[in-house]
Amino acid sequence: MPDTQDDLKHRLSNLLTNVERYLMQQKDLFGNDVYVEERKPTGKAPDRFTYPDEGWTKLQALAELDKAICTCVKCPLGHTRTNFVFGVGDPHADVMFIGEAPGADEDAQGEPFVGRAGQLLNKIIEAVGMKREEVYICNILKCRPPGNRDPQISEMETCTPYLYKQIELIKPKFIICLGRISAQWLLKTNDSLTALREKVHDVFGAKLLVTYHPAALLRNPNWKRPAWDDMKKFRKMYDEMKAQKEAE
Ligand code: URA
Repeated sequence: MPDTQDDLKHRLSNLLTNVERYLMQQKDLFGNDVYVEERKPTGKAPDRFTYPDEGWTKLQALAELDKAICTCVKCPLGHTRTNFVFGVGDPHADVMFIGEAPGADEDAQGEPFVGRAGQLLNKIIEAVGMKREEVYICNILKCRPPGNRDPQISEMETCTPYLYKQIELIKPKFIICLGRISAQWLLKTNDSLTALREKVHDVFGAKLLVTYHPAALLRNPNWKRPAWDDMKKFRKMYDEMKAQKEAE
């Protein structure tokens, strides 16, 4: 019996869903080469923080920094945001999680990772025996890109000194980049997420590890297992660091 129109519509819709899912997976892993198109990657994070000549760069406390920069309108996102999303957690945390940019929930509440991806991030943090309050969580961008589009290079360039200042003040021992965009940007590389996850990167006085973005894990639950491997690797290194400190 020939397919009815409904059968055909159903098959076409399934096909399109699968194509969309495949394309999203490829983008999570490899991106669009945005970085290479606009900038030549050096493959090396800067070995010192450089700042614009502005007063906030001299501040020595996170809360003061937040207060000083939360009215920023240096890029167009400053005009479309609801809230500036500075960061949350222990100002002296050993571990810093860095995502890419606030989404709608984060924009509404002024706190990073509070939506569905944030709930998964909380579970990931708890799975390695830590609490959200004892780590520090923030993003490359402090304001939401409209429609949840990827951050633009110019926006990341403008916002990154704020993140550098956060890293300088917190002095984390570990930085965990959530997803390709934050890792590629901080490490100044176009390497794929798969390649970046394989290494431990020594930058900003910390060990930097890369794992999947929680939103990517929600789209692709089959990546939860390798993400768990990443977190076990982190926990082992963290325990070794603590044991070494105690022995000193
Ligand atoms: N995705 C991010 O990268 N950051 C958030 O704060 C929320 C979702």
